[in-house]
Amino acid sequence: MSATQLLEVRNLSVAYRQGAGWVRAVDDVSFALRPGEVFGLVGESGCGKSTISLQLLGYRHVSMRVEHGEVRFKGVNLIDMSRAELDELRGDRIAFVPQNPTTALNPGIRVGQQLAETLLAHGRADKESAEATIAGILKLVGLPADPAFQRRYPHQLSGGQQQRVCIAMALACDPDLLVLDEPTTGLDVTTQEQIIALLSELRGRIGVAMLYVTHDL
Ligand code: ADP
Ligand code: MG
Repeated sequence: MSATQLLEVRNLSVAYRQGAGWVRAVDDVSFALRPGEVFGLVGESGCGKSTISLQLLGYRHVSMRVEHGEVRFKGVNLIDMSRAELDELRGDRIAFVPQNPTTALNPGIRVGQQLAETLLAHGRADKESAEATIAGILKLVGLPADPAFQRRYPHQLSGGQQQRVCIAMALACDPDLLVLDEPTTGLDVTTQEQIIALLSELRGRIGVAMLYVTHDL
Protein backbone atom coordinates (compact mmCIF):
# COMPACT_ATOMS: atom_id res chain seq x y z
CA MET A 1 0.00 0.00 0.00
CA SER A 2 1.50 3.28 -1.06
CA ALA A 3 0.77 6.23 1.22
CA THR A 4 -0.71 8.29 -1.62
CA GLN A 5 -3.62 5.90 -2.29
CA LEU A 6 -7.06 6.55 -0.85
CA LEU A 7 -8.46 3.22 -1.98
CA GLU A 8 -6.65 0.11 -3.06
CA VAL A 9 -8.51 -2.96 -4.32
CA ARG A 10 -6.13 -5.89 -4.55
CA ASN A 11 -6.77 -9.22 -6.24
CA LEU A 12 -10.43 -9.15 -5.25
CA SER A 13 -12.50 -12.27 -5.97
CA VAL A 14 -16.15 -12.52 -4.91
CA ALA A 15 -18.58 -15.41 -5.33
CA TYR A 16 -22.33 -15.95 -4.95
CA ARG A 17 -23.99 -19.05 -3.63
CA GLN A 18 -25.72 -21.01 -6.34
CA GLY A 19 -27.41 -24.26 -5.35
CA ALA A 20 -24.90 -26.31 -3.38
CA GLY A 21 -21.87 -24.42 -4.70
CA TRP A 22 -20.41 -20.98 -5.28
CA VAL A 23 -20.07 -19.12 -8.58
CA ARG A 24 -17.40 -16.49 -8.96
CA ALA A 25 -18.74 -13.09 -10.10
CA VAL A 26 -15.55 -11.04 -9.61
CA ASP A 27 -12.22 -12.66 -10.43
CA ASP A 28 -8.91 -11.16 -9.33
CA VAL A 29 -9.69 -7.45 -9.75
CA SER A 30 -7.15 -4.78 -8.75
CA PHE A 31 -7.23 -0.99 -9.02
CA ALA A 32 -6.40 2.06 -6.92
CA LEU A 33 -7.63 5.63 -6.41
CA ARG A 34 -5.74 8.62 -5.10
CA PRO A 35 -7.54 11.28 -3.03
CA GLY A 36 -9.76 13.42 -5.29
CA GLU A 37 -9.31 11.12 -8.28
CA VAL A 38 -12.16 9.94 -10.51
CA PHE A 39 -11.99 6.30 -11.60
CA GLY A 40 -14.35 4.81 -14.18
CA LEU A 41 -15.40 1.19 -13.77
CA VAL A 42 -16.86 0.24 -17.13
CA GLY A 43 -18.17 -3.06 -18.46
CA GLU A 44 -21.15 -4.88 -19.88
CA SER A 45 -24.15 -5.71 -17.75
CA GLY A 46 -23.51 -8.67 -15.43
CA CYS A 47 -19.70 -8.41 -15.46
CA GLY A 48 -19.49 -7.73 -11.71
CA LYS A 49 -19.42 -3.93 -11.37
CA SER A 50 -22.10 -3.73 -8.67
CA THR A 51 -20.51 -6.64 -6.80
CA ILE A 52 -17.26 -4.65 -6.62
CA SER A 53 -19.12 -1.45 -5.61
CA LEU A 54 -20.84 -3.28 -2.76
CA GLN A 55 -17.49 -4.49 -1.44
CA LEU A 56 -16.27 -0.88 -1.28
CA LEU A 57 -19.11 -0.37 1.21
CA GLY A 58 -18.28 -3.54 3.10
CA TYR A 59 -21.53 -5.25 2.11
CA ARG A 60 -22.00 -8.66 3.71
CA HIS A 61 -24.54 -11.34 2.91
CA VAL A 62 -24.83 -15.06 3.62
CA SER A 63 -25.09 -15.83 -0.10
CA MET A 64 -22.01 -13.78 -1.01
CA ARG A 65 -18.42 -14.39 -0.04
CA VAL A 66 -15.10 -12.69 -0.63
CA GLU A 67 -12.88 -15.55 -1.71
CA HIS A 68 -9.69 -13.61 -2.03
CA GLY A 69 -8.17 -10.16 -1.85
CA GLU A 70 -8.30 -6.85 -0.01
CA VAL A 71 -10.20 -3.57 -0.16
CA ARG A 72 -7.95 -1.09 1.58
CA PHE A 73 -9.35 2.33 2.47
CA LYS A 74 -6.70 4.66 3.89
CA GLY A 75 -4.61 1.56 4.44
CA VAL A 76 -7.19 -0.41 6.44
CA ASN A 77 -8.74 -3.54 4.94
CA LEU A 78 -12.55 -3.25 4.84
CA ILE A 79 -12.90 -7.00 4.47
CA ASP A 80 -11.62 -7.44 8.04
CA MET A 81 -13.73 -4.67 9.60
CA SER A 82 -16.43 -5.29 12.16
CA ARG A 83 -20.00 -4.21 11.52
CA ALA A 84 -19.58 -1.32 13.99
CA GLU A 85 -16.43 -0.10 12.22
CA LEU A 86 -18.18 -0.31 8.86
CA ASP A 87 -21.19 1.63 10.18
CA GLU A 88 -18.87 4.48 11.11
CA LEU A 89 -17.25 4.48 7.69
CA ARG A 90 -20.31 4.07 5.48
CA GLY A 91 -22.20 7.23 4.68
CA ASP A 92 -19.46 9.17 6.40
CA ARG A 93 -16.04 8.58 4.79
CA ILE A 94 -17.38 6.44 1.92
CA ALA A 95 -20.79 7.28 0.48
CA PHE A 96 -22.94 5.61 -2.14
CA VAL A 97 -25.10 7.02 -4.93
CA PRO A 98 -27.49 4.38 -6.28
CA GLN A 99 -28.76 3.61 -9.74
CA ASN A 100 -32.40 4.13 -8.81
CA PRO A 101 -33.10 7.19 -6.62
CA THR A 102 -36.80 6.34 -6.38
CA THR A 103 -36.15 3.17 -4.39
CA ALA A 104 -33.19 4.67 -2.49
CA LEU A 105 -35.21 7.49 -0.95
CA ASN A 106 -37.78 6.77 1.74
CA PRO A 107 -41.16 7.61 0.13
CA GLY A 108 -42.76 8.55 3.46
CA ILE A 109 -40.17 11.06 4.67
CA ARG A 110 -39.83 14.66 3.52
CA VAL A 111 -36.65 15.58 1.63
CA GLY A 112 -35.31 17.92 4.32
CA GLN A 113 -35.98 15.35 7.04
CA GLN A 114 -34.08 12.61 5.15
CA LEU A 115 -31.07 14.88 4.92
CA ALA A 116 -31.40 15.82 8.59
CA GLU A 117 -31.44 12.16 9.62
CA THR A 118 -28.23 11.47 7.68
CA LEU A 119 -26.49 14.41 9.36
CA LEU A 120 -27.74 13.55 12.85
CA ALA A 121 -26.91 9.84 12.46
CA HIS A 122 -23.26 10.70 11.86
CA GLY A 123 -23.10 13.50 14.42
CA ARG A 124 -22.52 16.07 11.68
CA ALA A 125 -25.13 18.50 12.95
CA ASP A 126 -27.38 19.04 15.94
CA LYS A 127 -31.05 20.00 15.70
CA GLU A 128 -30.17 23.74 15.73
CA SER A 129 -27.49 23.71 13.03
CA ALA A 130 -29.10 21.07 10.77
CA GLU A 131 -31.36 23.54 8.92
CA ALA A 132 -28.52 25.79 7.74
CA THR A 133 -26.35 22.79 6.85
CA ILE A 134 -29.16 21.24 4.80
CA ALA A 135 -29.81 24.46 2.90
CA GLY A 136 -26.09 24.61 2.05
CA ILE A 137 -26.01 21.03 0.77
CA LEU A 138 -29.17 21.49 -1.33
CA LYS A 139 -27.61 24.56 -2.98
CA LEU A 140 -24.40 22.63 -3.60
CA VAL A 141 -26.29 20.09 -5.73
CA GLY A 142 -28.31 22.73 -7.57
CA LEU A 143 -31.64 22.23 -5.78
CA PRO A 144 -33.91 24.88 -4.25
CA ALA A 145 -33.11 25.24 -0.54
CA ASP A 146 -36.29 26.96 0.64
CA PRO A 147 -38.49 25.41 3.36
CA ALA A 148 -41.28 24.60 0.86
CA PHE A 149 -38.88 22.44 -1.17
CA GLN A 150 -37.54 20.76 1.96
CA ARG A 151 -41.09 19.81 2.93
CA ARG A 152 -41.70 17.92 -0.32
CA TYR A 153 -41.90 14.14 -0.44
CA PRO A 154 -39.70 12.25 -2.94
CA HIS A 155 -42.65 11.52 -5.28
CA GLN A 156 -43.16 15.28 -5.65
CA LEU A 157 -39.74 15.60 -7.32
CA SER A 158 -38.56 14.82 -10.85
CA GLY A 159 -36.18 11.89 -11.39
CA GLY A 160 -33.27 14.31 -11.79
CA GLN A 161 -34.20 16.13 -8.57
CA GLN A 162 -34.47 12.81 -6.73
CA GLN A 163 -30.99 11.85 -7.89
CA ARG A 164 -29.70 15.27 -6.77
CA VAL A 165 -31.19 14.56 -3.32
CA CYS A 166 -29.37 11.20 -3.27
CA ILE A 167 -26.12 12.98 -4.19
CA ALA A 168 -26.83 15.57 -1.47
CA MET A 169 -27.34 12.78 1.10
CA ALA A 170 -24.12 11.11 -0.03
CA LEU A 171 -22.20 14.38 0.30
CA ALA A 172 -23.80 15.38 3.61
CA CYS A 173 -20.91 14.13 5.74
CA ASP A 174 -18.20 15.43 3.40
CA PRO A 175 -16.93 11.95 2.40
CA ASP A 176 -13.50 11.14 0.97
CA LEU A 177 -14.93 8.70 -1.57
CA LEU A 178 -18.18 8.61 -3.51
CA VAL A 179 -19.20 5.30 -5.09
CA LEU A 180 -21.66 5.94 -7.93
CA ASP A 181 -23.25 2.79 -9.36
CA GLU A 182 -24.78 3.75 -12.73
CA PRO A 183 -26.13 7.00 -11.27
CA THR A 184 -27.75 8.16 -14.53
CA THR A 185 -29.07 4.89 -15.97
CA GLY A 186 -32.69 5.46 -14.90
CA LEU A 187 -32.82 9.08 -16.12
CA ASP A 188 -33.73 10.58 -19.49
CA VAL A 189 -30.84 11.73 -21.70
CA THR A 190 -31.04 15.47 -20.92
CA THR A 191 -31.19 14.80 -17.18
CA GLN A 192 -28.28 12.36 -17.50
CA GLU A 193 -26.15 15.14 -18.99
CA GLN A 194 -27.14 17.53 -16.19
CA ILE A 195 -26.20 15.02 -13.48
CA ILE A 196 -22.83 14.31 -15.13
CA ALA A 197 -22.19 18.08 -15.36
CA LEU A 198 -23.07 18.42 -11.67
CA LEU A 199 -20.71 15.60 -10.67
CA SER A 200 -17.88 17.08 -12.68
CA GLU A 201 -18.51 20.51 -11.10
CA LEU A 202 -18.62 18.97 -7.61
CA ARG A 203 -15.34 17.23 -8.21
CA GLY A 204 -13.72 20.59 -8.93
CA ARG A 205 -15.38 22.31 -5.98
CA ILE A 206 -15.04 19.80 -3.17
CA GLY A 207 -12.34 17.45 -4.44
CA VAL A 208 -14.10 14.22 -3.44
CA ALA A 209 -12.74 11.04 -5.07
CA MET A 210 -15.26 9.14 -7.19
CA LEU A 211 -15.62 5.58 -8.37
CA TYR A 212 -17.96 5.97 -11.33
CA VAL A 213 -19.61 2.72 -12.46
CA THR A 214 -21.29 2.53 -15.86
CA HIS A 215 -22.04 0.13 -18.70
CA ASP A 216 -22.16 3.08 -21.11
CA LEU A 217 -18.80 4.04 -22.60
P1 ADP B 1 -23.04 -5.60 -13.05
O1 ADP B 1 -23.26 -4.62 -11.95
O2 ADP B 1 -21.75 -5.41 -13.77
O3 ADP B 1 -24.19 -5.64 -13.99
P2 ADP B 1 -23.29 -7.59 -10.94
O4 ADP B 1 -22.16 -7.32 -10.02
O5 ADP B 1 -24.64 -7.13 -10.55
O6 ADP B 1 -22.91 -7.06 -12.42
O7 ADP B 1 -23.39 -9.17 -11.20
C1 ADP B 1 -22.25 -9.97 -11.54
C2 ADP B 1 -22.67 -11.41 -11.64
O8 ADP B 1 -23.05 -11.90 -10.36
C3 ADP B 1 -23.84 -11.66 -12.57
O9 ADP B 1 -23.60 -12.85 -13.27
C4 ADP B 1 -25.01 -11.80 -11.63
O10 ADP B 1 -25.99 -12.66 -12.17
C5 ADP B 1 -24.37 -12.40 -10.39
N1 ADP B 1 -25.07 -11.97 -9.17
C6 ADP B 1 -25.26 -10.69 -8.75
N2 ADP B 1 -25.92 -10.66 -7.59
C7 ADP B 1 -26.17 -11.94 -7.25
C8 ADP B 1 -26.84 -12.57 -6.14
N3 ADP B 1 -27.36 -11.87 -5.14
N4 ADP B 1 -26.90 -13.94 -6.16
C9 ADP B 1 -26.38 -14.67 -7.17
N5 ADP B 1 -25.74 -14.14 -8.22
C10 ADP B 1 -25.63 -12.79 -8.28
MG1 MG C 1 -24.82 -3.24 -11.66
